[in-house]
Amino acid sequence: MWLRNDLRMADNTALYRAARGCKALAAFFIACPETWRSHGDGDNVVAMRLRSLRQLQSALAKKQIPLYFIELAQFADVPAALAQIVEKLQVDALYANAEYPVNELARDQAVRQHLKAQGVPVEYSTDRTLVPPGSLTTGSGDGFKVFTPFKRAFIAQHDNSGEAFSPLPAPRALGADHEAQWPEWIAVDGPNNLVRTIPDTVGDYGVAPGGEKQVLDWTAGEAAGARLLAAFADKVDDYDRLRDFPAQENTSRLSPYLNCGAVSVRQCVKMALEANGGRWVGASDGANTWLSELLWREFYQHLVVNFPRVCRNKPFKPETEKVPWSNREEDFKRWCEGRTGVPIVDAAMRQLNQTGWMHNRLRMVVASFLTKNLLTDWRKGERYFMQQLVDADFAANNGGWQWAASTGTDAAPYFRVFNPYSQSKRYDAEGAFIRQYVPELASLSDRDIHCPPQDLFSEENYPPPICDVTDSRKRAIEVFANLKS
Ligand SMILES: Cc1cc2nc3c(=O)[nH]c(=O)nc-3n(C[C@H](O)[C@H](O)[C@H](O)COP(=O)(O)OP(=O)(O)OC[C@H]3O[C@@H](n4cnc5c(N)ncnc54)[C@H](O)[C@@H]3O)c2cc1C
Repeated sequence: MWLRNDLRMADNTALYRAARGCKALAAFFIACPETWRSHGDGDNVVAMRLRSLRQLQSALAKKQIPLYFIELAQFADVPAALAQIVEKLQVDALYANAEYPVNELARDQAVRQHLKAQGVPVEYSTDRTLVPPGSLTTGSGDGFKVFTPFKRAFIAQHDNSGEAFSPLPAPRALGADHEAQWPEWIAVDGPNNLVRTIPDTVGDYGVAPGGEKQVLDWTAGEAAGARLLAAFADKVDDYDRLRDFPAQENTSRLSPYLNCGAVSVRQCVKMALEANGGRWVGASDGANTWLSELLWREFYQHLVVNFPRVCRNKPFKPETEKVPWSNREEDFKRWCEGRTGVPIVDAAMRQLNQTGWMHNRLRMVVASFLTKNLLTDWRKGERYFMQQLVDADFAANNGGWQWAASTGTDAAPYFRVFNPYSQSKRYDAEGAFIRQYVPELASLSDRDIHCPPQDLFSEENYPPPICDVTDSRKRAIEVFANLKS
């Protein structure tokens, strides 16, 4: 079993299938830090991955299944290393869950070809998505370009068929002394062998720019993910009403677990369908809305398969390649650091920098602010998010950024630009979120905190706003309007 971003025992399709009829079973994980870096994965997401892997190793050991680890530099090194591993461990068949961005697909195709020469079949299962990407198409057989028709088509096919997504059980346990029969390690050509120890860090990961270990307040692993899901089951009915307020914890916070696979999307669907009388559109407005968010996730995963150009640093809408981004370095730096002088934007960016996570409403606000008000290329923001987020996921992140920048699949026109001050007053009315992350503003009144009076501040204390949101909004709309002419 080749584990990737599917780090759980329960409802793991490939693991379940691998264990089903086999006489012997081992699992392994391949870290490719150079490729991960080139994809933009940052310290937080890699730390979460490695910590989840360690937890999974203990869980697998209880079922007598050994978990091996090897560090290679790049995806390109994987087929040759696997060929050796497969030969030395006398593997009959290899199982893994499919991954969809173009480089992952190319790696998996190369592995299949390589192992075919050794007579070892490779089975990739659908697991990260509810249905295989590419299987849901428009009437003319194309992939969906817009979310709402995608969602409608999905629900038309699957409402009342909740059973289809029933989670699978954990793999069966192997015999009493099974794990001990496997070697402790095996030699592989190259700098690293296949071993049973999972390191704290790989490549140049794990060390924050200041030289200190990255501190992350996320408990890794399947049990922690299951606890969050169970706790959220009590809140899901109110999700539609309460989800947009960043000072309150009313979303599930499951994204880091869904992304490393500690929780499966089917487990989430099961919980929400149970809250919704078994329906995708049922009596609970909260469950309806949450299921819809899980379909956004599904939509973006399908998008990278149907429109692989989004994996090649290209906008979904080709005409937006011509946007004359202003790309002022100083603007980008201040946005990253949370020093734009717009309190809600700064609070959000500091939440990201301090915790590795940001509330969805604020992801939309800061992405709109960077791409529209500061007219900075969405790819810079996309990359910064990948580096910082503990839930960094190429498909969701790219989809979110392109949606906000109006270069993506959004059906709404380009002149939708979030006003950060109105968003702040609406979703953080008492300024509780701003006070938490921008303490220098904590003593301001609920009214002033959204847009502090300028005479109170200096560049050393809290900076004046980096731009006038009305003028910069107008400029962005003109730039996008000119693309049409
Ligand atoms: C600019 C931008 C960048 C983003 N980058 C990422 C990313 O790298 N990784 C990531 O998982 N999500 C990303 N999102 C989507 C969304 O913000 C997060 O999934 C959500 O905030 C996670 O919090 P939660 O688990 O509490 O979500 P909940 O509100 O509880 O939603 C449940 C799950 O549904 C999925 N989901 C919810 N909203 C979206 C969405 N808009 N798009 C896709 N899936 C969604 C997530 O898997 C989430 O865990 C991004 C959104 C934007 C606007």
